[in-house]
Amino acid sequence: MSLKLKTKILILFMCLICILTGCFSSESSSVSGETSSGPSSAEAFHSCSRDIFAMDTYMTITCYGVNAEAAADAAEAEIKRLDDLLSVGKADSEISRLNNEGSANISEDSAIMIREALELFEETDGAFDIAVYPVMVLWGFTSHEYHVPTQEELESVLKLVGSDRIVFSGDSVRLENGQGVDLGGIAKGYASDRLSAIFEEYGLVSGLISLGGNVQLYGAKPDGSSWRCGIRDPLDPDSPENVCGVLSAENCAVITSGAYERNFTSEDGISYHHIIDPRTGFPAENGIISSTIVSESGMLADALSTAVYVMGLDNASEFWRSSAHDFDMILMTDDGEIYITEGLDGSFKTSYPLHVIKQ
Ligand code: AMP
Ligand code: MG
Repeated sequence: MSLKLKTKILILFMCLICILTGCFSSESSSVSGETSSGPSSAEAFHSCSRDIFAMDTYMTITCYGVNAEAAADAAEAEIKRLDDLLSVGKADSEISRLNNEGSANISEDSAIMIREALELFEETDGAFDIAVYPVMVLWGFTSHEYHVPTQEELESVLKLVGSDRIVFSGDSVRLENGQGVDLGGIAKGYASDRLSAIFEEYGLVSGLISLGGNVQLYGAKPDGSSWRCGIRDPLDPDSPENVCGVLSAENCAVITSGAYERNFTSEDGISYHHIIDPRTGFPAENGIISSTIVSESGMLADALSTAVYVMGLDNASEFWRSSAHDFDMILMTDDGEIYITEGLDGSFKTSYPLHVIKQ
């Protein structure tokens, strides 16, 4: 084969990858296929991409490697399995049964998430609380029949909030009367960890997982360089292609929480979103409008992105400094400033005013 022909084929493959990775633009974090020169192999460029609707969100997975097609099949099956198990929108899911009956023996998957959630409830001083479910129901976020509750209604469900009252041991969970759990703040991160494990099983060279606002970068890009992950601009959420900054990263989860992901506007024109401050029962309004966590664990990143959104900038910074977990944050505040923790200094580019949170 002539050198010219080889170059043409390589360019064609690069274009294909740009198209495949470009389809992440409707998510909170998006991954660009912009690429630098670097080592490439036929194996890396064997790719397969899937769009899936599950867990109440649009998802895209892209696999690179000789087993790309088989890995994508297995990943799609796994997402559907987890959706059936965890969705509070499905009456026969394991979590719905737990919420309806008040107690249940649960699967290994649910047990891993509930165990992590209960630990994080303690560590975040209650900011991450899966027992927020009755509040979600009251606002109509579970049924999409939205309603602004009265103070009286809120007070009656706030009595049920508090993960410390969930009794959990082995595979058995018991709730107090009227309590319920909602894994919506952690399940997508757990799912992306599971998909990463599948990618490893299938020997993929690299892969991208985008589940709603959650991106998991498996390995580096097929050409060996870092992925460029765009964080959706919360000040311009109706233009998903607009990003507030771009992070260069590999082999990690990049998970963003934002009010724009799910919200409704009341008759008097006020917008209410789905990230609840468990102390008040109201959507969290503590100055943060977008919170991104970067860590190896998708499950941790998912839970913490929700938690730091609730905490606000000062408490989130203090939490990061004292936490035993290994993670970094990108926080945007309502005055249009961005704060990153020092581990991301140099790898996050933005045109907004940028501040570095130091240890
Ligand atoms: P995320 O998009 O990851 O920030 O998660 C938001 C989802 O987590 C909501 O749709 C609820 O299902 C759930 N949730 C809301 N507030 C909280 C909270 N304070 N702690 C734990 N889960 C929450
Ligand atoms: Mg979350």
